[in-house]
Amino acid sequence: MAYILEERVNQVSLAGSREKTIVCEKASLAGSVSQRACVFCGSRVVLYPIADALHLIHGPIGCAAYTWDIRGSLSSGPELHRLSFSTDLQEKDVVFGGEKKLYASASELIDTYQPKAAFIYSTCIVGVIGDDVEGVCRQLSAEKSIPVISVQAPGFQGSKKDGYKVACESLFRLVGTQNRPIPKKSINILGDFNLAGELWILMEYYRKMGVHINATITGDGRVDDICNAHNAALNVVQCSGSMSYLAKLMQDHYQVPSMRVSYFGIEDMSDALYDVARFFKDDEMMEKARELVKFELTRLLPQLEWYKNQLKGKRAAIYVGGAFKAISLVKALRLIGVQTVIVGSQTGTTEDYDIIRQLCDEGTVIVDDSNPVELSHFVKEKKADIFIGGVKERPIAHKIGLGFCDHNHERKEALAGYEGMLNFAKEIYATAMSPVWRFTK
Ligand code: SF4
Repeated sequence: MAYILEERVNQVSLAGSREKTIVCEKASLAGSVSQRACVFCGSRVVLYPIADALHLIHGPIGCAAYTWDIRGSLSSGPELHRLSFSTDLQEKDVVFGGEKKLYASASELIDTYQPKAAFIYSTCIVGVIGDDVEGVCRQLSAEKSIPVISVQAPGFQGSKKDGYKVACESLFRLVGTQNRPIPKKSINILGDFNLAGELWILMEYYRKMGVHINATITGDGRVDDICNAHNAALNVVQCSGSMSYLAKLMQDHYQVPSMRVSYFGIEDMSDALYDVARFFKDDEMMEKARELVKFELTRLLPQLEWYKNQLKGKRAAIYVGGAFKAISLVKALRLIGVQTVIVGSQTGTTEDYDIIRQLCDEGTVIVDDSNPVELSHFVKEKKADIFIGGVKERPIAHKIGLGFCDHNHERKEALAGYEGMLNFAKEIYATAMSPVWRFTK
């Protein structure tokens, strides 16, 4: 494995080998060209789906280039989150400071769009020139009578994962600032970004069980709900990589307990419903959850069986942001007859990778914080038929001549819940079995 940099050797392992668990949760190696994005990007991914807030990027226009509009987070109401605003810092601002420009831009935008709150993101250059963004935010909060929150996210301060933490700290400044009575059996849904409307599918399941949804953080998010989030009985946390820190802050300060779930694949989806019913110690709720699962599986399993027969023997590579999602994907692929031969993530923990090692077949490559060179070699060596990942993995797959399934924020197809599982099977089938791959090298 000459293509693995010497300093990264212990971040790669094979399932079933006698090696100890892989090294993870460390800064990316310089020169490795990690698939991880910057701190600012991490904070933006988490906060941007709050649809009635203003999101202003304080930095050069390039930082704002990747707009939220091409991503899939949907709103059932306001759509201010789809607009990408930037202070467009120029050389003159870098020399003389960008505070005046920030104040003028934010003030005008707040007056124009009347948001419920504003998030001001500091990028690399702001961290270097030292603009007093906190001070500007304080002034604007007082003048405009809305929360104006400084998101201190200069890209060089770490990786995308550090950006998640910054976003959680920013959100926590809203939590507890409003108090409205809500039903006793209420939950907050954390870490679902309502890609292709997935959140609405999940909310419907919980509603059928008699669970009240208080705040959705941050998919289809609303500022007022987040301000009142501390009144919920439970935080149900998906994509634990991005939101577990907010859940911890709410546990420590407001004694709101949390549980980690995944909504991908029928096993983990069903567990998510049962676990919530178990938490409320409510027999009627549990019975409704069982009925719901039975109803959904009766429809779904025969259809999945067909895909399983077609896809038997196909091999998949998975490289995603959070390892908890990777675990669900391994199980979901197994259900439709697809063997996982590579599993990796950008932000997995030791605990996550231990679960993956136990779950995967012997010889499966397990990798933390990988790069395009490694991924390309793994995919070829393991003879994968399909690659499941995000926007940065797509070109790797296509350059090799391999089918790709988008399981990240750009997708337009719901993959969560029971209907999401069927969509996933359809997509894997359509991609892996496409005749087009016969014409690639
Ligand atoms: S690394 Fe810095 S300059 Fe680049 S996008 Fe992130 S914040 Fe902007």
